[in-house]
Amino acid sequence: MSTENIDQAIGAVGAHEGFYATNPQNINQKIENENYGTNHDIEREADKIEREVLFEQFINNMSPINRPDINMRDRILNSFHENQMYLRIIQKQK
Ligand SMILES: [Zn+2]
Repeated sequence: MSTENIDQAIGAVGAHEGFYATNPQNINQKIENENYGTNHDIEREADKIEREVLFEQFINNMSPINRPDINMRDRILNSFHENQMYLRIIQKQK
């Protein structure tokens, strides 16, 4: 996936960071990890939102004639999420 300009890259990172600011449960989990040694995955949802923003930008950057329809977008996006989950499982097993 790619961004076409710096504003789009900043937008995706902003969405990632903004997730923390608007999600009290995630904030609590971060505090628990830092203070009680728990191992909550505080990145997963933020990464998911970041991928969604990047994907949306990627689609918007395509010429209209090449843009996948909404059903195809959902399928592509779901496969991104599934692949990411798969990568995380592999990483945890190492
Ligand atoms: Zn993060």
